[in-house]
Amino acid sequence: MAEENLILKAKNHTFPGFKIEEESSWSGPFAFIQGADTQFGFIENYIEKKPNPGWDKEVELTRRAIASVNAMCPRPRFFVVCGDLVDAFPGTSLRYPQEQSFFHLFKELHPDIPLVCVCGNHDVGDDPTHESIQIYKKKFGDDYFTFFCGGVMFIVINSQFYKAPEKVQDLAEEQEKWLDRQLKEAKSGKFKHVVVFQHIPWFIRNPDEEDVYFNIKTEIREKMLKKFYDANVRAVFCGHWHGNAGGFYKDLEVVVTSAIGGQLRGDKSGFRVVKVSEDSIHHTYFALEDVPKDISLN
Ligand SMILES: [Zn+2]
Repeated sequence: MAEENLILKAKNHTFPGFKIEEESSWSGPFAFIQGADTQFGFIENYIEKKPNPGWDKEVELTRRAIASVNAMCPRPRFFVVCGDLVDAFPGTSLRYPQEQSFFHLFKELHPDIPLVCVCGNHDVGDDPTHESIQIYKKKFGDDYFTFFCGGVMFIVINSQFYKAPEKVQDLAEEQEKWLDRQLKEAKSGKFKHVVVFQHIPWFIRNPDEEDVYFNIKTEIREKMLKKFYDANVRAVFCGHWHGNAGGFYKDLEVVVTSAIGGQLRGDKSGFRVVKVSEDSIHHTYFALEDVPKDISLN
């Protein structure tokens, strides 16, 4: 079997096993894991600037992350990685071997904990094309989709459509039309919570901050935050910053999660444990050495 077929993939904008028919009603508190930027190859390429960058370091960090997630009790419902799954851009020579390592390694994740992949700029390109997105979808599944878990609606989007839509305007419009339909459903009030996963955060700390490489430009940011807010979205989980940050737009929290892989802001490699209760979504970032086994939901 091709390595990429070892993971479950989003198809028809849904995710296997998390269909609305089975998962739309509340069945008690649960936890999930949110990480970002496993980005195999980033440390030796970008931080250490080695001429022939390898990715053993990220493999080791990600392996530790997977082992600690596997050991958790109760078992998290899923493990979402919010983009930059590997470092090499589409069409470059290291892309394929890094992807193979990624798929191979995630075989170690317990079969009852699905890996949910979100695309980052390194996965579809800083300036995505029809081809780069098509290649991503073939390997990792749809770049945007909705899934349902324990009465909560989760929406995954491709943030490159807001960052650099120039060559893929038609696809960006398709996502937007699809998103509007999802948000209409979200607004119906049928779900306990509505949560969004994406790679590039709308903002790092403040909805009014200036436009930088690591956020989405103000004009689009304002429009989208309002749209999400009006549809009951109260949490947006992101990565891309390689550091922990985040802030609020009204009472909608944008959570910026540091990398499982290489760090840029002095945090330690790790991920978030997110506990979902009937009236709250509580998240804590753990460095890999501090991850608890007992993630008691009470
Ligand atoms: Zn990124």
